[in-house]
Amino acid sequence: MQVYTCPFCGLRDEREFFFAGEAGAARPDTTGPVSDAEWAEYVRMRRNALGRAREVWMHLTCGELFVMERDTLSARVLGSVALRRAPGGREGADGAGSVDGPDGEGAP
Ligand SMILES: [Zn+2]
Repeated sequence: MQVYTCPFCGLRDEREFFFAGEAGAARPDTTGPVSDAEWAEYVRMRRNALGRAREVWMHLTCGELFVMERDTLSARVLGSVALRRAPGGREGADGAGSVDGPDGEGAP
């Protein structure tokens, strides 16, 4: 069993979490026409990175979405960060560090 960190609730059993997808996928601009191929790319294609990966997860207990960075080889969690501020403006329960990747991406 693994333990993941919800930015709002702290350390929790992995069974309380749901994988919501890879972080960083850019949704097609729907202000204009979007081809089937563009939608398929957005919905279906995954980088499936080996090693360091940024993913969106949901903590089912509190219902919050957050970005978790983990090593897909070792399954080691490198950090997690909330996608929104907690009520009262705090960042999260553990003050988890940045999950910025080497390219400086900070947002999903
Ligand atoms: Zn939570």
